[in-house]
Formats: sequence, C-alpha cells, structure tokens
Amino acid sequence: MLELRPNCECCDKDLPPDSTEAVICTFECTFCRSCASDVLNHQCPNCGGNFAPRPVRLFALLEKFPASMNRILNARGCGGSP
Ligand SMILES: [Zn+2]
Ligand SMILES: [Zn+2]
Repeated sequence: MLELRPNCECCDKDLPPDSTEAVICTFECTFCRSCASDVLNHQCPNCGGNFAPRPVRLFALLEKFPASMNRILNARGCGGSP
C-alpha cells in the first residue's frame, strides 16, 4: 500500500491524498508535478528512477487506510541547486 506522503520532497508543497499533482518513484519518493518536470527533469534525485502519477485514494477509503502524516523533505535540496 502506498504511504501517500503529504508533501513534495523538493519544495514542501502540500500534496493531499486526492491531489492529482503528486508523482512518485518506485520507492515512493514523492514530488509535485512542477518539481518533477522543471527541477528534476523527470528523474528521482534519490534513486535515479522515473516518476509516475500517484493514484488518488478516495476519501471513503482514507478512514480505513489513512495517508502518511510523515513529511519528508530532502535536506540537500534537489535539482542540484545550492
Ligand atoms: Zn515540489
Ligand atoms: Zn526515488
């Protein structure tokens, strides 16, 4: 099951479980669409893999299968910016 992490690792933008703006890599490193395309050039900075759009979890399912509250932010920043 996906963790559905609550934010973009790059810019810390909120990505709620019903967001259609979230993309993930195979390890579920989570980014917003604009970071994935404009900053990361469609490659995960952690594992080098590609991104896929994160499936939306319907509200009715979130009660039983809650999304992660654990915000992860890439301390090194991303996209090679200092
Ligand atoms: Zn972002
Ligand atoms: Zn990754």
